Amino acid sequence: MQTAYFNTQFVPLADAKVSIRTNALQYGTAVFEGIRAYWNATEQQLFVFRLPEHYERMLGNCGVLKLKVGHDVKELCAITVDLLRQNQPKEDTYIRPIAYVSSEGLGPKLIGYDTGFAIYTIPLGDYIGTAGLKVGFSSWRRISDNSIPARCKLTGGYVNSALAKTEALEQGYDEALFLTHDGYLSEGSAENVFLVRDGALVTPDLSQDILEGITRSSLISLCREELGLRVTERAIGRTEVYVAEEVFLCGTGAQVAPVVEVDRRPVGTGKVGPITARIQQLYLEAVKGKHPKYRHWCTPVY
Ligand code: PMP
Repeated sequence: MQTAYFNTQFVPLADAKVSIRTNALQYGTAVFEGIRAYWNATEQQLFVFRLPEHYERMLGNCGVLKLKVGHDVKELCAITVDLLRQNQPKEDTYIRPIAYVSSEGLGPKLIGYDTGFAIYTIPLGDYIGTAGLKVGFSSWRRISDNSIPARCKLTGGYVNSALAKTEALEQGYDEALFLTHDGYLSEGSAENVFLVRDGALVTPDLSQDILEGITRSSLISLCREELGLRVTERAIGRTEVYVAEEVFLCGTGAQVAPVVEVDRRPVGTGKVGPITARIQQLYLEAVKGKHPKYRHWCTPVY
């Protein structure tokens, strides 16, 4: 039986339920996280990747929505490890914490209401292909920081992602790329994006209506420190993606996902590029606790 953490208690997953009147269901007023735990078969150990960083981001975002989780980062990490020990996965696992406006009052507002908080875990292999994606620019623009901040990982903001991802799938693409309202490259529906230009990495800076991805920041460190690559965060125009040597998406779910085609144009040679392949390999070593220097990014569960 799977267990969930639900409003201060561990309960059977089937009992973790909310009313249809819940404000967050009606108005999208919730902040969530996506965290991965990796099974290391050699060590018979489950490692949660960058657990405190995910909760630091979440609590910051909860502050924007005035949500009061009632736990600090340390407590949230301990609850998560406890939940995993109860569910005992021996495979790659996804962890989904969510803080939400739990009151049933009518009307969208963020004061005078209670906060609910829950965590559940599910097995998760690859979220999207890791062998070479075909992507297309969406006709939907990325939500902007002064309307629904993409930085905050708000449930309501994922309507924007769902519209773009659906359009992409219906057009025969694997994933969508968003442009900002100003027409610069932003991110995918659930991934940050990197280009390789002249052998160096370029990625949209934090003012381009993106989520401040934890994979993105991990890769920036890994690429600079381990591969000696220059990484620049800056505004990127649409056609710069067309002329890039390599393109890849990254995220907790997507991990490092090479892009081989953009808007029906091959990226570079149209095959997974050598720099992307090296980054993908390095990342998968780091998340499983196989890279001693980055072992502190991995929280052991057992
Ligand atoms: N952008 C969006 C919109 C996302 O949903 C995600 C997945 N959480 C990412 C980027 C990647 O963020 P992270 O590396 O922290 O998972």
